[in-house]
Parts: sequence; C-alpha cells; structure tokens
Amino acid sequence: MIIVLKKDPDKMQLEALVGWATNLGLSINQSEGNSNLILGLIGDTSAVDIELIRALEIVEDVKRIQEPYKKANRKFNNTNSVVDVSGVLIGNGNFAICAGPCSVESEQQMISVAQDVKNSGATLLRGGAFKPRTSPYAFQGLGGDGIKLLVEAKKASGLPAVTEIMEISQLKYFEDIDLIQVGARNMQNFQLLKELGLSKKPILLKRGLANTIDELLMSVEYIMAGGNSNVILCERGIRTFETSTRNTLDISAIPVLKKKTHLPIMIDPSHASGSYTLVKPLAMASVAAGCDSLMIEVHGNPQKALCDGAQSLTPKKFDDVAKAVFALRPYSMKPEDFE
Ligand code: PEP
Ligand code: MN
Repeated sequence: MIIVLKKDPDKMQLEALVGWATNLGLSINQSEGNSNLILGLIGDTSAVDIELIRALEIVEDVKRIQEPYKKANRKFNNTNSVVDVSGVLIGNGNFAICAGPCSVESEQQMISVAQDVKNSGATLLRGGAFKPRTSPYAFQGLGGDGIKLLVEAKKASGLPAVTEIMEISQLKYFEDIDLIQVGARNMQNFQLLKELGLSKKPILLKRGLANTIDELLMSVEYIMAGGNSNVILCERGIRTFETSTRNTLDISAIPVLKKKTHLPIMIDPSHASGSYTLVKPLAMASVAAGCDSLMIEVHGNPQKALCDGAQSLTPKKFDDVAKAVFALRPYSMKPEDFE
C-alpha cells in the first residue's frame, strides 16, 4: 500500500501515522515523489481501512499495490537508484561498460585484457571463476584461485572486479570483489538471494533463461528485503523457439523494467546472442533503448578461450563497439523519457 502525502505535511500528524503503521507490524519506506512524500507500507495490509487513512488531513491519496514486489517497485520509490560499484556509478543517467573474458584463465590473460578494455572505456572488469557450465565435463573455472587472478588484474588496472557466486559458501573468496554476480541459473536460488541480502556489497542479478520480468523482480525483492538495495538487474537473453541465436535478447525488458522499477539495468548482448558478430548491433539497440550499463565478453584470443569463445570480442573489436556505444549515448532514452 502506498500513501501519498500532501505537500509539507504536519510533522506531528506524520509521526502519528508512521507510529500507527509500525504498531500494526508494517515497515515503512519513505520516498520523495515528484513533489510529495510517499509512504510505502510493507507487510500484511489486508486489515487496513483505506478510507480511514484517506480521511486524514495530511493524506492526498492511498493506493493498494497489486504487485508482490515492494522495495523494487517504482510505485514505492520513484527515485531512480544509482548503484556505486567502488566509485563507478550506474543508474539515473550514469552509464558503465563491464568487460572481460567469460572465464579467468591466467594472470597474464587477465592483466592484458583488463588494460585493453580500460583503454577502450570499460570501467568494470569481469571474469568468471566459479563457472556454471551446462556440461560437467566442460571447464568449470579456476574457483578461488581464479578470483585471486581477477583481483591481481583489478589492482593492475584499477578497474573494479565483477564475478559470479554460485553458492554462499564461496562468499569467503569475494572480499576484494566489487560487484557480486548471481547468474541466470541461480536467479531463483532463494537461499542464496536471502544471504546476499545481508551483504553490503552491490549485487548484479541476471534474469533466468526462462523467467518472466515479474519473476526477476520477485527475486531481486529477496535481496532487497534482507536490507541490500545495491542491486542491478541484468537482461541476458531468454529461451524462445528461435534457434539462430543462443538466446533471444528481450530488448523490451528495458522499457518494461524502467516502468516497473527504479533499479538500474544492465544488458548482456554476449550471452544473449552467443555470437561475436551480433554483439555490436545488440549493444547499440540496448543503449538506444535506455539501458544503464552493458556487459560484454572480451578475450585476447577468442579462438583459444576456455569458455564462450564464439561470443567473445577481440580487444580491437571491443574498442569498435565501445566507440559506437559512447557515440550513441547522447541520443539514447533518458531517465525522464520513462516518466
Ligand atoms: C556469465 O556472465 O559468465 C554467465 C554465466 O552468464 P549467464 O548467467 O547469464 O549465463
Ligand atoms: Mn560466458
């Protein structure tokens, strides 16, 4: 339920209203609307008499929220969130590219690719160490040792590091990681999401292969309900009947999510397409449609990559994509275009 207050509400009456809701066991989320203060009541509001609240002097309007997600809901908080990943801002007009290989393979590979993507304008470095692979016989990643190499490349390049966690017991390796990724296959691992809700670190939550936008929002609500609002949503392609691409990039997820949530959106054209030739058009389309960031796989020698070589760009090709994206940015959808 949300309560829109009149301008400059009387402080005593506001305190009384907040106290009454708290006594009912509800938690209250306060946010600034266009010009009015908005109270979002979270909890079981079924017994609350809407007309009674509407009659209060300081109240302009009361609405029941149908959606089961609250903290992620734009109706609860109409201020675009900005996530700070160790100084790199994402959201509300702040744009960032996260780039790097699918998997961490060696120190030399990581340090060299980190410098390359940084020179092209990427401000976050990715590299998988715990890899969710479809086949148990495929390269599973270097695990904790891989994270150490990623952190070496972070130190050498100065780029904050992004990598995937698959289960909470791995959290001990993530101390020097700046943005923790939950992969598509774990989007509904609710226990993992709950634990990450207790973390102070920013979390990147990828949409599942066969999950709806509302399911993505319910999953991020698990993290936010635990107290961690530093979250970024990532569209990385979904399963459809189309077989020409690895997945189908759901471009409409950008405007749809912008309407439903205040959270920043990252688009991953690499995993969405499965082909390096498709990364540039999909990246440009996503930027035009108003995404807040991109995740792009880059490898010094894609033909030799231990994972996802077919979709990985060479540093030179990445440079071309980055240039195109930055040139397009002034013409892309702005936060205010979604209001
Ligand atoms: C990845 O980013 O390394 C990855 C495995 O992506 P996804 O979870 O989207 O498949
Ligand atoms: Mn990959």
